[in-house]
Amino acid sequence: MNAIAEPTVARSLVSLLDLQRTAFLSQPVPDIGRRRRQLARLRGAVLAYRHEIETAISADFGNRSRHETGIMELAGIIQAIDYLSRKLPRFMKRERRHVGFVYRSGQAYVEYQPKGIIGVMAPWNYPVSLNMIPLATALAAGNRVMLKPSELTPRTSDVISRMLTEIFAPEEVAVVLGGPEVGAEFSRLPFDHLLFTGSTQVGKKVMKAASDHLVPLTLELGGKSPVIVSRGHANEQTMNSIVFGKLSNGGQTCVAPDYALVHEDDRDRFVQAYMETVARFYPDGPTSDDYTSIVSDGHHARLLDLVEDARQKGATVIKAGLHPERATTRVRTMPPTLVIGVSDGMKIMQEEIFGPILPVRTYRAIGQVIDYVNSRDRPLALYYFGSDISERDLVLQRTTSGNVGVNNTIMHVAQDDLPFGGIGPSGMGAYHGIEGFRAMSHAKGVFIQGRWSLGRLLHAPFGKLAAFALTMTLGRPRNHPKDSQIKLGF
Ligand code: NAD
Repeated sequence: MNAIAEPTVARSLVSLLDLQRTAFLSQPVPDIGRRRRQLARLRGAVLAYRHEIETAISADFGNRSRHETGIMELAGIIQAIDYLSRKLPRFMKRERRHVGFVYRSGQAYVEYQPKGIIGVMAPWNYPVSLNMIPLATALAAGNRVMLKPSELTPRTSDVISRMLTEIFAPEEVAVVLGGPEVGAEFSRLPFDHLLFTGSTQVGKKVMKAASDHLVPLTLELGGKSPVIVSRGHANEQTMNSIVFGKLSNGGQTCVAPDYALVHEDDRDRFVQAYMETVARFYPDGPTSDDYTSIVSDGHHARLLDLVEDARQKGATVIKAGLHPERATTRVRTMPPTLVIGVSDGMKIMQEEIFGPILPVRTYRAIGQVIDYVNSRDRPLALYYFGSDISERDLVLQRTTSGNVGVNNTIMHVAQDDLPFGGIGPSGMGAYHGIEGFRAMSHAKGVFIQGRWSLGRLLHAPFGKLAAFALTMTLGRPRNHPKDSQIKLGF
């Protein structure tokens, strides 16, 4: 669907939703075989379109290596599909629940019922996996799906649209293309659930729009994720992981370490080791084939502005890695950059960076780190590097973040069995793991009355039986002389 006049967009979106709703009502609970076949179709298509996807993403970004797309997106999609397919019997299973004494002989259970039509809105930074993993989760939970990929990666969104149109009927999965105005209409639809991945700013608008129909939401947002380096741990292993997390996808990763908190005694060692690691990872500097460009001119200009603002306010800016001057020879390429001596008055410490720039703040005691993290918005991820278990536990207990990585960055996202999501301004709800399946299912509590039940006899006119049942649940009454004389039959 192309960007067209607003009333027409709204009308065609509503008719797409109606089409899916009618199909859902005629077949509301697909069995496990059908769900697995849908997942298998998706898996096959992603592999068949692998080359097209890699080429489209690289063209959309300006440059992104096919290895990076393979590792950071395609492997994750296949792994998630296989995980869901394997876990479906357990996820779909009815869950027996406890039945109280008064209702014994009855049965209570939870049925995880497909919610119906799930809306998925995705950003541009991992334009395939952030559409495909929510899609796979929604299908595994037995739903129908309307997807809205990002307009900033048009070639990739086009491949996604063609690929899904080939393998799914529109009443199963439909793709809606367009910019913010289409996104705004999309977020107003009366879905049975809406999963939005994107910025906190747009997340707020989506939440407002969804409130018109009380559509339940999963919001996967962004923020500033700190990386804390314990005293004495600015070593090669730490740096490999920080550089990987910071510079993959040119820093355009929601869970990238946004800024580093480093012990003041380690600052120079940290800077040195960071520079060496960047040089080792990208021997041709910012024009290395493995180094990803910035997605748009606007984002590129914003990053340059963040660095300039920090410089003007007194920070030291260091181009890390080799041949930084080559950045100008490739489209929208920003060299890896360290910013030392930052303060909270600088824009770079106020907004999510989303680029290959790492500000470094120093600390003297771990308590300062905890207070600093707690004085800011709760982040999507927090990373801790160190071997002092009591210090690590203190940081984990005293701070709240969506997820945590210890002695690694980003890798928690690849653990399919862990929930993935933020808290507060970094998001609401989670997917991946059983949490994703459940977010897109309705947990319907069912109670089946047994043949014999004390509860069944509890109706007016109340008498001895009611007093007996109440005594069994509340204990003997102390100030009702009549009730307290009741003799229990055993
Ligand atoms: P964005 O919020 O600009 O766009 C996300 C989606 O919303 C796009 O499909 C876009 O078309 C649509 N949209 C834009 N304006 C809209 C409006 N007014 N109403 C409704 N929809 C609208 O985000 P982005 O720039 O594409 O992505 C970057 C952000 O996403 C970063 O903040 C990053 O941290 C976050 N992110 C979060 C996760 C996560 O899993 N938590 C993953 C990736 C990215």
